[in-house]
Amino acid sequence: MSLRDRLGSREWHDTWDVVVIGGGATGLGTAVEAASRGLRTLLLERGDFAQGTSSRSTKLVHGGVRYLEQMNLALVTDALRERGAMLRNAPHLVHKLDFVVPIYSYAAMPYYGIGLKMYDWLSGRFSLGPSKWLSAAETAERLPTVRREGLKGGVLYRDGQFDDARYATALARTFEDLGGVALNYVEVTGLIQRGGKIEGITAVELESSERFDVSASVVINATGVFAEEIFQMDPAKQEVSLALSQGSHLVLTKDFLPGTSALMIPKTEDGRVLFAIPWHEHLVVGTTDEPVRQNSREPRATLEERSFLARHVAQYLGREVTAHDVLSVWAGLRPLLRRGNAATSKLSRDHQVLRSPSGLITITGGKWTTYRKMGEDTISFAVRAAGLRAAPSHTRDAVYGSDLPAVQALAAEYSELAGSLHPLLPYRKSEIVWAARHEHARTTEDVLARRTRALFLNAAAAIDAAPEVSRLLARELGRDEEWRRRDLNKFLNVAAGYKFAG
Ligand SMILES: Cc1cc2nc3c(=O)[nH]c(=O)nc-3n(C[C@H](O)[C@H](O)[C@H](O)COP(=O)(O)OP(=O)(O)OC[C@H]3O[C@@H](n4cnc5c(N)ncnc54)[C@H](O)[C@@H]3O)c2cc1C
Repeated sequence: MSLRDRLGSREWHDTWDVVVIGGGATGLGTAVEAASRGLRTLLLERGDFAQGTSSRSTKLVHGGVRYLEQMNLALVTDALRERGAMLRNAPHLVHKLDFVVPIYSYAAMPYYGIGLKMYDWLSGRFSLGPSKWLSAAETAERLPTVRREGLKGGVLYRDGQFDDARYATALARTFEDLGGVALNYVEVTGLIQRGGKIEGITAVELESSERFDVSASVVINATGVFAEEIFQMDPAKQEVSLALSQGSHLVLTKDFLPGTSALMIPKTEDGRVLFAIPWHEHLVVGTTDEPVRQNSREPRATLEERSFLARHVAQYLGREVTAHDVLSVWAGLRPLLRRGNAATSKLSRDHQVLRSPSGLITITGGKWTTYRKMGEDTISFAVRAAGLRAAPSHTRDAVYGSDLPAVQALAAEYSELAGSLHPLLPYRKSEIVWAARHEHARTTEDVLARRTRALFLNAAAAIDAAPEVSRLLARELGRDEEWRRRDLNKFLNVAAGYKFAG
């Protein structure tokens, strides 16, 4: 399928105001900001949207209780304000969640209680409700399986939760509604420069191997942990380095922690916080913070991380985790700006916008919750640096629509698509067709990992459902049997890594 076929009716310009490299939270947020300010914007992603770190987060829309301990109040306040904007702008994609911190020592109670009161206070008018003390009985009522021995009480606070990859898909659609062009499976391979200034990019469309050049007033590097690959293409090399830190998660059946509250473990063996969070009727446990040297597109939880997570579940929920209990395992890499020799868990999640002498703008660091602010800061910076004419920012008050009625209409239209995909997965076949037609799904992995979250919820069930997904997808995309088999095998290889013993 050629680039022209994929563009369909979308408008293509010879010269763009802005080209964004990278279709994760940061790139999509930046692209939405640019398009909403009237800039002609192209976004290129070499894999699928949110295939990198942005589909592998802990799914929290939060100020970050742990950054309170680092006394990074500006980061927490900014993130709490953004949490408020996400809840208001996309109420079908983000919701409030109760978190309970169980406390086993009277001496620790004031520390956590006051810390969370400070979190309330920093939320200001964006507060999701006040935190409160719980007795031991109330704590156990909210966390029915929590270890009771020595339990003195708890603290309840509220934060936000979301589905990261679904949010990214909504951003891509919002961007296109604003007139932008977003292409997945297109890799930026070089920066075009004249007289020491960057004036565009070279790229390859990976499905057709078609190469093309694009001119742009501004090129923005939003490639997360891969930012240094783009620095290498820049003639004016930058002396900026990233520290990579891996975070892993286990997904367990919900009976490990029934109810609707999440558990927050305030101090793990390595002095961090850890969550056990209800998500899509499953329980997500995470995350770790392991410095890694090697970058990877498909990072894997190490054996140490797997046993660290399982150990804390056993310690707090009083039940050993067996391989049979773990439905999926996933890991992501954090792009953190390196400062001195600080350990990665101490490095700030603050974002930073950088400009190289040749004009390449890079946005790095930050967190999912602050994606919109990162986009706003980047585009405001780019507008000033390149002298672009742009409207003021208004993404803080944007609204992202819901496609649910349209997906249901599709199922009603074709009875074959009304059926469930798999008894253990909450998806219908119509969602596959919808993902291919309207959400840029190009592979079985796109559908099972990010348009639906099947692979993240239950790897074995996703593997069972894969042949049917690849059949429907091949039909939608007009692909032959050879493509279908190759695509299916590729998915099965990736999916094997999401099994606990994989
Ligand atoms: C384990 C973990 C848990 C987290 N939990 C939370 C949380 O609960 N809440 C929260 O707010 N934040 C959380 N974060 C942080 C958040 O997930 C990240 O800050 C965010 O997803 C980073 O997004 P990004 O777009 O910068 O990077 P990415 O999502 O990695 O996107 C970069 C993209 O660039 C693409 N790319 C690279 N090179 C090229 C090229 N040459 N051409 C085209 N495309 C290219 C890649 O394919 C990739 O898709 C977590 C992070 C981790 C690691």
